[in-house]
Amino acid sequence: MKAVLLYSGGLDSTTILYALLAHNKQFDTIVVNSKDAVKKIELFPLMINYGQKHSVELHFAKQILQANKLTAKEYLIDWSSFRGQAQPGNQSAVHPHRNMMFMTIAFGYASLVGADTVYVGWNISDDADFPDCREKFLETFQDAIRLSADNKKLFLKAPLLKLNKAEILAYAQKYKVPVDKVWYCYRPQPQTSTYTPCGQCYSCRLMAEAKSKEVKVEGDLIL
Ligand SMILES: [Zn+2]
Repeated sequence: MKAVLLYSGGLDSTTILYALLAHNKQFDTIVVNSKDAVKKIELFPLMINYGQKHSVELHFAKQILQANKLTAKEYLIDWSSFRGQAQPGNQSAVHPHRNMMFMTIAFGYASLVGADTVYVGWNISDDADFPDCREKFLETFQDAIRLSADNKKLFLKAPLLKLNKAEILAYAQKYKVPVDKVWYCYRPQPQTSTYTPCGQCYSCRLMAEAKSKEVKVEGDLIL
């Protein structure tokens, strides 16, 4: 089967990436007959460049993909026409209906490459602030995209949906994600030849809290 992974280079989508790679490796170590071969997931990573303030994440994302001999399709969204209408203060960083657009683009790409599934990294820490990362939205969007294509076999999957950051980090370690190479900060601090996380933004605090917890996870992610 083929699947598109909406990939940002952050901990969430990188954990899914490594879980999918681990899933595929299982099929490399057994005698592959035609039935097993079907279960292998051919991956099509998709990165969306929407002028995010933390666009350095795309640079780190590419490095992680390269290390796994993968490349991503990069899709550019030009939001500049809307910028003059943005709300003041921090709200200017928020793009309403962002995920809705990302999902539509991802399924558009999926139909081009013949994939029936799109993976996203939504999880509990997104739940409070982003209504379009919640289970109800996922189910409703999946219904809408099926109607849109007149195809009941399209799937939007969020394997981390019920997990918090500490649990995701535990899975990341289980699947050997290079956690120190994963970008998570919203306010990258430029250094001579690289960037360092600010240590203070919401995402940095979430990561620090997750690292301070000892969480054990059982079994594999359900992909
Ligand atoms: Zn930060």
